[in-house]
Amino acid sequence: MSSIETDSDVYKTLLESTRAIPWRIDWKTMTFSYIGPQIEQLLGWQQDSWLSVNDWVERMHPDDRDYVVDFCVSQSRAGVDHEADYRALTDSGEYVWIRDVVHVVRKDGEVEALVGFMFDISERKKTEEHLIRLQKQLEEYSFQDGLTGIANRRMFDTVLEREWSHAQRSGLPLSVIVLDIDFFKQYNDHYGHIKGDECLRRVAQTLSRAANRPRDFIARIGGEEFVWLLPETDAESARLVAHKCLNLIRQQQIVHEHSAVSELLSVSLGVGTTAASAHATALEFVEQVDQLLYKAKHNGRMRAEFADFRD
Ligand code: GH3
Ligand code: MG
Ligand code: MG
Repeated sequence: MSSIETDSDVYKTLLESTRAIPWRIDWKTMTFSYIGPQIEQLLGWQQDSWLSVNDWVERMHPDDRDYVVDFCVSQSRAGVDHEADYRALTDSGEYVWIRDVVHVVRKDGEVEALVGFMFDISERKKTEEHLIRLQKQLEEYSFQDGLTGIANRRMFDTVLEREWSHAQRSGLPLSVIVLDIDFFKQYNDHYGHIKGDECLRRVAQTLSRAANRPRDFIARIGGEEFVWLLPETDAESARLVAHKCLNLIRQQQIVHEHSAVSELLSVSLGVGTTAASAHATALEFVEQVDQLLYKAKHNGRMRAEFADFRD
């Protein structure tokens, strides 16, 4: 036995005794020139059933197939080592999460082969999915908006109901301001989501400073929509808070090159005041204030529209 054969025997033994599954694809013919026998234990398909790249593609979850294949082919063409996670089909019709780590072998500048290892990552994926589910559940049970740290819609609904019955009992006016960022879609499209999120945090912090009586309450109730709930507040005081919101945002001087109404980020507001008995439900009142917001948008944005429903 020559020393070369001994070496390759050693390598083969090493490769075939790891849990990772080694493979090699000949780039020109797009066929497997090697795949470790461990594949049979993991997916059930026999070692000699892996002939061409199509066998790999066809044994992939349909939802993963297009982007994984596109990604791997384009990376390989460019000669870039890469890795991809996808669900591989077993011979009993189930799926196993795989991480494929791929090295591109080049010869004289041309891609000659791909060699790689498949790792079974189903346990890790299970943990990840479990964590994502837990995170979602936490958000559902929470009263805090995860992005901005102010109250969320759930909290708003709760506080609104409480203040509504309070206003009905006391007969004192209740004001609501609904605020929406102008052309925020363009902001996101132009500056990206990360900057968009930063901007939302900044707007939330800024708006929070517009009112400060103990029961004044601000929440983020939608993507780029906020609401101020102002108990025992008449139309005149609500107007002051609304103007303060507009001014505070203007002072922030957040550049928004793609807004059609200003070079700086702006908001539109609907401002309504009610004696709770004038409206049957809190929801009906908030919907009417929402209509005022639409009016502000319609009338050119970067402004507030007011109504005192007690008149
Ligand atoms: P208008 O002046 O009429 O309000 O226009 P607009 O573009 O602000 O309104 P639209 O409701 O069409 O778009 C809201 C955009 O807000 C859509 C989305 O890009 C962005 N958005 C919503 N939620 C979030 C979020 O949590 N983070 C980020 N970054 N963007 C968000
Ligand atoms: Mg908007
Ligand atoms: Mg909106």
